[in-house]
Amino acid sequence: MKKSNKIMSLSLATLLGTSAILIPLSNDAIASSLKDIQNERSSIESNIDQKNSELAELEQKEKQLNAEIEKLDNQMIEVSAKIGDTEEKIAEAEKKIEELKKQIVEVKERIEQREELLKERAVAIQDSGGAVKYIDVLLGSKNFSDFISNVGMISTILEEDERILEEHVADQKLLEEKETELTIELEKLTAEKEELDELKAELETTKKEKDALLKDIETEAEDLHGHIDELENEAEILKQQEAAMKAETVRVKAKKGSSSSSSSSSSSSSSSTLSMATNISSGDWTWPSAATYLSSGYGYRWGKMHKGVDIASRASNVAIYAAADGTVIEAGWNSGGYGNWALIAHNIGGQKYVTLYGHMKDSPMVSAGQSVSKGQPIGIMGSTGYSTGPHLHFEIHVGGYGNPVNPIDFIQ
Ligand SMILES: [Zn+2]
Repeated sequence: MKKSNKIMSLSLATLLGTSAILIPLSNDAIASSLKDIQNERSSIESNIDQKNSELAELEQKEKQLNAEIEKLDNQMIEVSAKIGDTEEKIAEAEKKIEELKKQIVEVKERIEQREELLKERAVAIQDSGGAVKYIDVLLGSKNFSDFISNVGMISTILEEDERILEEHVADQKLLEEKETELTIELEKLTAEKEELDELKAELETTKKEKDALLKDIETEAEDLHGHIDELENEAEILKQQEAAMKAETVRVKAKKGSSSSSSSSSSSSSSSTLSMATNISSGDWTWPSAATYLSSGYGYRWGKMHKGVDIASRASNVAIYAAADGTVIEAGWNSGGYGNWALIAHNIGGQKYVTLYGHMKDSPMVSAGQSVSKGQPIGIMGSTGYSTGPHLHFEIHVGGYGNPVNPIDFIQ
């Protein structure tokens, strides 16, 4: 499977002569192509400006919402404190009512006892013949002062009983009045608490809504930040691409002038553990890796555009090669998902191309501005960036970065 893929591609390329259909461009066309790149750059830059102003607007909204949420938080704290106060008052009132009820029960008991006592005394006087008994008591008096005292005693006992009874009844009335008052107060407090609870619930709902809104805005701002990063990345690439393309033109001219076999003036400073590709194609392009297994093709997959091809291998130290002679645009780390990557500018027969090599294991072996030749190792296959396993993600863009085409049309 691995081998057959490459063999088939090679034989296909042999059959077709060259897979890439190259249309040499005039100087005007080159100039206009450079203009296009510049136009694209300025359009990206104005896009960045627009996105930045959108972001500023969002941040303003975010600020406002945060202020509103803070206000709501303060209101909730206030309401909660009020609820706490009311609950305390309710508890106090309930306690007092409880005490009053106890006191009322006690007074009622005392009233009953007093009534009982009065009844018993009345019965005692009646049973013993009423007045007779009265007289007995009086006659039993030893002397006049004793007699007076006994008369006073009897009437005093009865009067005192009645007085105490009246007092108790008055007490009961007072306590019951207090209880009624407190019950009314309790009802008022309970109603107040209900209102406060409702207010708190309303505030909580509003806060939840604002929180959700804030989250939306934050997500939107995050997306925008990501978008701006992407655009800035693209603008940076385009800027570097311009410089590399100019160097490419110089390189191609120099090559034509010297017509020497060595196209590259590269002086790779990296310890070149990898040698040149062993089976370099004879055309302008070559397969960009020692690995041959095409694990994923160009085009839409999982609802997303796959702007290149994936070439995978499970072996270690698998070389990645420059697909054609060119000048390195950028080499290093890409935070957009490509991981360790390299971008190379090519000028082939007047047509500009950009090749992209993603997910390298380590930092690329080449650096920006450096000339490279077809089949020159530029890095080792890896799985850095958004990658699920060791593979080379390879793209070809026609005219300049931003216009990806199917690489298989060129490298096979
Ligand atoms: Zn890929």
